[in-house]
Amino acid sequence: MENCIFCKIVAKQIPSDAIYEDEDLLAFKDIHPAAPVHFLIIPKLHLATLADAKPEHAELLGKMLELAPKLAQQQGCGVTKNADGGHIGGYKTLINTGPDGGQEVYHLHMHVIGGSKRNRD
Ligand code: 5GP
Ligand code: ZN
Repeated sequence: MENCIFCKIVAKQIPSDAIYEDEDLLAFKDIHPAAPVHFLIIPKLHLATLADAKPEHAELLGKMLELAPKLAQQQGCGVTKNADGGHIGGYKTLINTGPDGGQEVYHLHMHVIGGSKRNRD
């Protein structure tokens, strides 16, 4: 998609701090992190918003959700259990959709934000 900054990142026309890539997805660190861990998971396919996803994209969306905990773990904000069996750690997963949803880049992306409770409520 012409003039889409995330398509340009996928095409390596502009650089990114990538942390994961496969045939369908790319994950890279957010240029303006809101917390110690802040990365984005995007489909390589250009979908402008979550609202543009169709039933045939369900598997792709599932892959994005499935990848988030794995990368969060690698990036140091995964959920683990303490000695009492309680959960510790964690992160937010966020998809802003449309102007009223705070979306700024119109190529579907999921934020994964963790590592601190500051600035993410
Ligand atoms: P949105 O508000 O659309 O959900 O979030 C877009 C995110 O993309 C923002 O957190 C912003 O910092 C990030 N972003 C925008 N342009 C770039 C870029 O060129 N490179 C990277 N790594 N992140 C970007
Ligand atoms: Zn795009």
